[in-house]
Amino acid sequence: MYRKNLWEKYVNYDEIMNFNEGYKEFITKGKTERLCVAEATKLAQEAGFKPLESFKHLKAGDKVYSINRGKNISLFVIGKKSIEQGLNILGAHIDSPRIDVKQNPLYESTNFALMDTHYYGGIKKYQWVTIPLAMHGVIYRKDGSCVEVHIGDKPTDPVFGIGDLLIHLSADQMQKTASKVIEGEDLDLTVGSIPLKDAEKDKVKANVLAILKKEYNVDEEDFLSAEIEIVPAGPARDYGIDRSMVAGYGHDDRVCAYTSLKAILDIKEVPNNTACVILTDKEEVGSIGATGAQSSYFINVIAELLNLEGNYDELKLRHALTNSKMLSSDVSVGVDPLFLNVTESKNSAFLGHGIVLNKFTGSRGKGGCNDADPDFIAYLRNIFDSNDICFQTAELGKVDQGGGGTIAYILANYNMHVIDAGIPVLNMHAPMEIVSKADVYEAYLAYMAFIKA
Ligand code: MN
Ligand code: MN
Repeated sequence: MYRKNLWEKYVNYDEIMNFNEGYKEFITKGKTERLCVAEATKLAQEAGFKPLESFKHLKAGDKVYSINRGKNISLFVIGKKSIEQGLNILGAHIDSPRIDVKQNPLYESTNFALMDTHYYGGIKKYQWVTIPLAMHGVIYRKDGSCVEVHIGDKPTDPVFGIGDLLIHLSADQMQKTASKVIEGEDLDLTVGSIPLKDAEKDKVKANVLAILKKEYNVDEEDFLSAEIEIVPAGPARDYGIDRSMVAGYGHDDRVCAYTSLKAILDIKEVPNNTACVILTDKEEVGSIGATGAQSSYFINVIAELLNLEGNYDELKLRHALTNSKMLSSDVSVGVDPLFLNVTESKNSAFLGHGIVLNKFTGSRGKGGCNDADPDFIAYLRNIFDSNDICFQTAELGKVDQGGGGTIAYILANYNMHVIDAGIPVLNMHAPMEIVSKADVYEAYLAYMAFIKA
């Protein structure tokens, strides 16, 4: 079914609405890549998945997961065919644009304590001021012990925020372009205003440090070995009087991560080819580093699987990769009724009209894109049509309006079939993004059909 209105396809909406309750809970809990890995691990264990290290030998039907440094996870249901014959892979990223706390963050100014930050990923900085923000992360002490910090998402927690200038005194500011209205170095977080009476100087900062010492047993220097992320506070919510959409932080790309994850967790019968879901980190900054899609982690895990199957050699590993097929499950641009001028309607994705195939992404003359093979697209059309799944095709906006990229090209570099297939989003990279509940459910069905095929 090509680009039909899903709300007309379904007779009743119970399954769609129920599925989205699980999704809202996932993104409400999974505000960072670490928290997404923790939540994914919990759901995987409940579904009978076991850690890779616990297997001495692998056989068809085994359910396996592997965690990489707490920020990247892969899951497998071992198929009837050997790994060498290729995997059906769903790959999504679980990092989202946000604001990171600097290594030496705390300072005091005019009786406020503040934290210096450095934003992560592509954001419109002016969208991140005067909204309630939460803090999630880890602080490692020198002795190797770790404390987790989670402040701002429980209803009784305090929240944080970044200030903006009152309109009354904004005569100069209002002349600036949108990229300069709020500058990166000014995205500083307000964290307190009560002075510590006995302190000699910077009394408000001293009081914040005293609270951190008391509640987390950390010193100022411990920020040097911390990873703390500032994200929008509060839960994902229904959006619209008809509750047809979800408003939340981090749909890009946790909406495809959750639907991919659920697809592999819900596999009932042993698949022919080994099914795989990989949830990666660092996509928003180029998929680099040990936990990004470019890391050798993924190929190492495939090698481990071949080995546990009793079948490892370098050539078989290369066969396994070449014979694999992948949906790069990442979000796409939804047509926005307020900004119709940036999309071309025949080749755009509409909310509520199904999973989006992006043959290519990139910018300008398709620069930097993975351009999926047409025979692979035909293969997918056949899977979707025979499973009564609604899909659409799109580009990331009009030619020469901008563009973007995903992890698709990285896995395609192993010479496997890859295409971007995800859920259309409005307000992408804003603190509050929007998706259609119908697309969330349809993507889950599409991913399930693909990895079982
Ligand atoms: Mn994305
Ligand atoms: Mn993104």
